[in-house]
Amino acid sequence: MRTASRPVIMDGVTSGAPNKSPSARIGRRRLFLLAAAASVFALVRTGNPADQKSFRFAILGDRTGEAQAGVFEQAWRETAAEHPAFVVATGDLIEGSDDATAAAQWQAVERILEPYRSFRLYAVPGNHDIWSEASERLYQRHTERPPHYSFDYENAHFTILDNSRSEELPAGELSFLENDLKAHAAQPVKFVFFHRPSWLIAVAMQNPNFALHQLARQYGAQYVIAGHTHLLAHLELEGVTYISMASSGGHLRASGKYEDGWFFGHALVEVNGTKVDFKIEELKPPHGQGRVTNLADWGMLGLVQGRKGGLAPSK
Ligand SMILES: [Zn+2]
Repeated sequence: MRTASRPVIMDGVTSGAPNKSPSARIGRRRLFLLAAAASVFALVRTGNPADQKSFRFAILGDRTGEAQAGVFEQAWRETAAEHPAFVVATGDLIEGSDDATAAAQWQAVERILEPYRSFRLYAVPGNHDIWSEASERLYQRHTERPPHYSFDYENAHFTILDNSRSEELPAGELSFLENDLKAHAAQPVKFVFFHRPSWLIAVAMQNPNFALHQLARQYGAQYVIAGHTHLLAHLELEGVTYISMASSGGHLRASGKYEDGWFFGHALVEVNGTKVDFKIEELKPPHGQGRVTNLADWGMLGLVQGRKGGLAPSK
């Protein structure tokens, strides 16, 4: 028989034994056991989606808008120590507004980010980042991201939009969002980021009649996250969570009080299957007191009643 002399590949080992020899039978049995073990292992893995789909990422707020010296650097140090899978920055990385000095400003940011190059950074364009065609080109070169884009990570989808040059979300951004959410409908967890919280007043008034909210509802985008105000605020409307991020460098306005949402910090977001948990982490000294809260501790006007004054410093 011609087949008898053909080498048989079993368990990755090439054997010259004919098909029906005892050693081939043992090889086949070993293969069977291996396949059985592999399928049990696969069952265990898929049987617990939390194992497969659990990850955490960080959100940094604005660096500029009167950047406070050393804050952004400290925010990165504290973020990096938590080893997030990646970082999303909600915009305003440079002070901007001047085409002549913008390149030098980006180089200064890159020097700050140099120690953290191992972290993938997903930038969101702010009004301090893009104000002209030249500044848009610089933004793309230095962040290595287009003004709008999207990506998947495990079971989550992230859409980054551009309202750097408009208080509202321009029609082109809404149609990009709709096509993107449609194309990634199968992803169970969806985050939408853009810099200016154009939704703030409507959501505060509990008015669902605006295009972004309708798209979020239609396609199941659960989280809409902005920067720009430097104020930590948390609002809910018909199952969509809206967040305005605390500052990661830009100056604190109004009362400047922690309990009102004015502080420096970042968010650490844990995604576990479809469960999403936001930890809001104030910077440790010297730029904060290291208070750690849950998103639910915050409302539209700072800490919700019952939490004011009751926060222990973090571990
Ligand atoms: Zn801004």
